[in-house]
Amino acid sequence: MRVPMIAGNWKMNKTPEEAVVLVNELKGLIQNTSAEVVICPTFVALGDVLKATEGSSIKVGAQNMHHQDSGAFTGEISPVFLKAMNIEYVILGHSERRQYFFEGNNEINKKLAAALKHGLKPILCVGETLEQREQGTTYDVIKEQIQKCLENLQEFNLEELIVAYEPVWAIGTGRTATKEDANEVIGFIRQQLIEVLGEKLSLNTRILYGGSVKSSNIRELMDMPEIDGALVGGASLDALEFSKIACY
Ligand code: PEP
Repeated sequence: MRVPMIAGNWKMNKTPEEAVVLVNELKGLIQNTSAEVVICPTFVALGDVLKATEGSSIKVGAQNMHHQDSGAFTGEISPVFLKAMNIEYVILGHSERRQYFFEGNNEINKKLAAALKHGLKPILCVGETLEQREQGTTYDVIKEQIQKCLENLQEFNLEELIVAYEPVWAIGTGRTATKEDANEVIGFIRQQLIEVLGEKLSLNTRILYGGSVKSSNIRELMDMPEIDGALVGGASLDALEFSKIACY
């Protein structure tokens, strides 16, 4: 059984103080949902957000991490630190990391190995750019992302892996993939997962859709058989809107 997941990626928004205000609003609003709800604030707000979520069902994730445990990597955050804080989830390979910080599939593969080694639950993002979609290479791009990012991870427990299909052209643009398109690509991702991880694991892996998800489109997306949840950017910064998405 794949438990639906609604995850909020707050990106580079909200001071620790503002983050706590948002969590407290969410706690009041998200009471009745069958989905697992995860919020991913900035690194500096993680501690305060964890405290503020105590006693609630809201879980906390980081937006990125380095693949090394420690060392001379100025400005980076280690998986060891996240684990020491009791952070449960970590988003890896978000398209903004790929685009602005030049993260490639090999680097993301190392990060996945490190997250799994330390018992963090990775949310691996994949998705094509507008140019790739227009060139008709969506499936090739995604196949490569899945294969390279998940290469040589057999020694780890991959039961907690989550994948998010985020077409880059739909992120923060107000353009959502149609529910049929999202469902089809996610079905393709599951086929790729079967090739890499085997059927049993892949049929239990949650695959989320991300890209301009709002309270007005979450229901139709969640009604699609392949879509197990949503990774929400902009709309996760508004308590009422995110709570409506979480309680779709
Ligand atoms: C995201 O950044 O993961 C995302 C899906 O953003 P938005 O919902 O704003 O498109």
